[in-house]
Amino acid sequence: MTFHATVLTLYPEMFPGPLGVSLAGRAMAEGKWSINAVQIRDFAADKHRTVDDTPAGGGAGMVLRVDVLAKAVDYAREGGADRPVIALTPRGKPLTQGRVRELSDGPGVILLCGRFEGFDERIFAGRAVEEVSVGDIVLSGGEPAALMLLDACIRLLPGVMGAPSSGSEESFENGLLEYPHYTRPQEWEGRTIPEVLRSGDHAKIASWRKRRSEDDTRSRRPDLWERHTGVRVQSASGAQREVQDD
Ligand code: SAH
Repeated sequence: MTFHATVLTLYPEMFPGPLGVSLAGRAMAEGKWSINAVQIRDFAADKHRTVDDTPAGGGAGMVLRVDVLAKAVDYAREGGADRPVIALTPRGKPLTQGRVRELSDGPGVILLCGRFEGFDERIFAGRAVEEVSVGDIVLSGGEPAALMLLDACIRLLPGVMGAPSSGSEESFENGLLEYPHYTRPQEWEGRTIPEVLRSGDHAKIASWRKRRSEDDTRSRRPDLWERHTGVRVQSASGAQREVQDD
C-alpha cells in the first residue's frame, strides 16, 4: 500500500519541496509514498477566483471561505473517504509522535493549509476535519506545517529508514527524550566523550543511556516526564502530587 498525501493549498508549488530530496525523496522515487498538491483557488466560484473574505465581526486580515474549502475537501475525498482530513492550525491539537505513527500506519492524509487569518470555523464540523497544530508558534501559512507532518510520517513508512531499530529508541517513542549522542574525535577542544560509552560494556552503556534519557526529560521537558511517570516534577513549593491521565 502506498501512503498518499493530498495537500490543499494556495501554493501547490511548495510541494514536494524539501520532501523531494534525501530520505523522503528517495522513498517517493521508489513509490513508497506519493503526493498531489491541489490549488484551493480552483474551487472558487467567481471569475476572480476569490478564496477569502473579510472576517465577520470586523478586524484585520482575511478568512478562507467555507464554501470554497468544502469543495476542495470534497474533491480530495472523491478517491475514497478513508484518509483523515487534517487542517493545520495553531488552534489545533498539538501533533504528537503517537498521532504521526497512527497516520503512517494508514492509507495517507488529506492536508488543508491555511493562509491569512485562517479558516472559516464551520469547515471543521461541516466536513469532519481534524485540527492539528505543529507547535505554539504562528506560521504565515499551513504549508511548512504540512511538510513537517508529512516528513514525520514518511520516515516511519516500511522500508524508508535504514536501520529499523532507529525508530523505536528515539525521542517521544517511549514518552521520553532520547539520550545524547557522541562520535569521533574522542577529544574535541578539550571536551571528551563520556568514558562509559568507550567501555565496551553494553549493560553499563544501556543503563547510562536510560539514566540520561530520564534525567534530561525530567529537567528539559517536565511536561513529558509528568505524563510518563504520573509524578509532577518538584514545584517551587517542593510539593509533589500524583497526576491523573487526561
Ligand atoms: N490567525 C491565526 C493564525 C493564522 S496563521 C491564529 O491566530 O490562530 C496562517 C495559517 O498558518 C493558519 O491558517 C495555519 O494553516 C498555518 N499555521 C500557523 N501556525 C501554525 C501552527 N502552529 N501549526 C499549524 N499550522 C499553522
